[in-house]
Amino acid sequence: MNFDFLIIGGGIAGLSTAQRLLQQGALVTLLERGEIGQEASWAGGGILSPLCPWNYPDEVTRLTTRGAKLFSAWTEELHTVTGINPEYEKSGMLVLPPFDTQAAMHWCALHNTYPVHQVHATDYNLHTYNDALYLPEVAQVRNPRLLRALRQHVELLGGHITEQCAVSDIVVENGRVQALTTSSGTFNAKEYIVTVGAWSKEVLGQHALRLDIKPIRGQMLLFKFDVSPLRHIVLQDDLYLIPRRDGYLLVGSTLEDVGFDQRTTSEARDMLWQRAQKILPSLRDMPLTQHWAGLRPASPHNIPTIGRHPQLDNLYLNSGHFRYGVTMAPASAEILINEITGTQQPFDVTPYQAGWGA
Ligand SMILES: Cc1cc2nc3c(=O)[nH]c(=O)nc-3n(C[C@H](O)[C@H](O)[C@H](O)COP(=O)(O)OP(=O)(O)OC[C@H]3O[C@@H](n4cnc5c(N)ncnc54)[C@H](O)[C@@H]3O)c2cc1C
Repeated sequence: MNFDFLIIGGGIAGLSTAQRLLQQGALVTLLERGEIGQEASWAGGGILSPLCPWNYPDEVTRLTTRGAKLFSAWTEELHTVTGINPEYEKSGMLVLPPFDTQAAMHWCALHNTYPVHQVHATDYNLHTYNDALYLPEVAQVRNPRLLRALRQHVELLGGHITEQCAVSDIVVENGRVQALTTSSGTFNAKEYIVTVGAWSKEVLGQHALRLDIKPIRGQMLLFKFDVSPLRHIVLQDDLYLIPRRDGYLLVGSTLEDVGFDQRTTSEARDMLWQRAQKILPSLRDMPLTQHWAGLRPASPHNIPTIGRHPQLDNLYLNSGHFRYGVTMAPASAEILINEITGTQQPFDVTPYQAGWGA
């Protein structure tokens, strides 16, 4: 592909899109307002599955299932090429009651990538829970490491990364994007891809049409144990505990509609900590290592918008992945680049165009 591309936004959506384009021979420059990989993609937990997958529409299932399937080979390649290990691990996920057992069992039986066992959670160092579900195929990854590896791979493939470069205007003439106005001057290319997550409507301006992507804040807590107290990810309602190999334990998360406010709050800290203690009593005596917040790019029904702009031929979007942008990243990049190159899609991708509302 001998096109040149400008990608706006250096989170997981921008980096994975850049990597795939470069692997197809394109010339790529990525413009990032701050530093690469410091926003939602850094803040996330790295669970490679929807939390209760049976609660989501097929459009989410298709993209998360495809993404989760691609992850193992993707991270292995990144590790080999860059020496940075994103620590992909099939740690499994234990879902504690209450949940709709029938809906869950039915959904898991329908999707054979989600085998399931009913277990007693006393086996797992936790309070006693009868009728928990164990999803052994659910994997996790460490976001900051994945982002560092991706950045390095993009640069090794010849991609240009320009940080501290905020795009302020998309200049359009004759139905095509001609240039980007930025804090570091004007940039132009043949094709343009917007991957700015929660900031999509702001960056697209009048070209956002009826796009409905907005920030939803999520707060996370981090603890450090000498030895990990859990073997699996544990989920109860919207609260999850994610054990890392080296004893770190993440507790998340909130869903807060507070605009672009990225501050953490003591209310959220106390709520997450107390709820997590009920599941894992030993957390009561642990000091809090870190507390942060990130802005998810929220879309209706968690369905992202991926593909060409309905009115501007050389403008594309890959954004609005809401709660599952890490899981969806390799599949989203795949279907976007398939569209650009006219390659057959692995499934019907028309639902990912609906977000433009045009
Ligand atoms: C607390 C929390 C927990 C999560 N847990 C999970 C999970 O377990 N599993 C999962 O799959 N997903 C999870 N997610 C969701 C996932 O992190 C997001 O869906 C994903 O990171 C979105 O990636 P992105 O690249 O679109 O956005 P971002 O990572 O936010 O990247 C967008 C980039 O665009 C840049 N930008 C913005 N405006 C401009 C501009 N004008 N010019 C240039 N650059 C600009 C920003 O600086 C930023 O770097 C979680 C999110 C949060 C917040």
